[in-house]
Amino acid sequence: MTNHELQQLVEQISVQFFAKPFKHHAYFNSRLRTTGGRYHLDNHDIDINPKMDDGAAHEVLIGIIKHELCHYHLHLAGYSGKHNTPQFKQLLKAVGGSRYAPRLASKESFHIQYLYRCNHCGLEYHRKRRINVAKYVCGRCRGKLQLVNSYLEKQ
Ligand SMILES: [Zn+2]
Ligand SMILES: [Zn+2]
Repeated sequence: MTNHELQQLVEQISVQFFAKPFKHHAYFNSRLRTTGGRYHLDNHDIDINPKMDDGAAHEVLIGIIKHELCHYHLHLAGYSGKHNTPQFKQLLKAVGGSRYAPRLASKESFHIQYLYRCNHCGLEYHRKRRINVAKYVCGRCRGKLQLVNSYLEKQ
């Protein structure tokens, strides 16, 4: 994925999930080593660790972009946008962002977790593998499952 494509993806996620435009710059920064992404308080740009470019579905990448956009939109709305604030936690949950931009000791020590939610009763399922939602249903109510989010988690 190029920087240009990353920029487009961030703009698209911003409008789709936050209903607000992203008016600054997003780019890959290979000097980011220990974190998946970073929001710059000084110039409002977002940089993303190129290791987060995780293939065609961009599941990890999108989770991280949402996380950084939470910082972005809260900061521009006058909040601190820090992780431990209720505003941050609420917004992150609402848009389904990664809980944290993963600290990368090494990429191997993380795996992708998929979060599914039952459309009927709301029960959540955290799985290390994708579920075939055409085949599997909710264990509690037999409702349909939907992929809500994916994120990196420590092994
Ligand atoms: Zn963060
Ligand atoms: Zn259910």
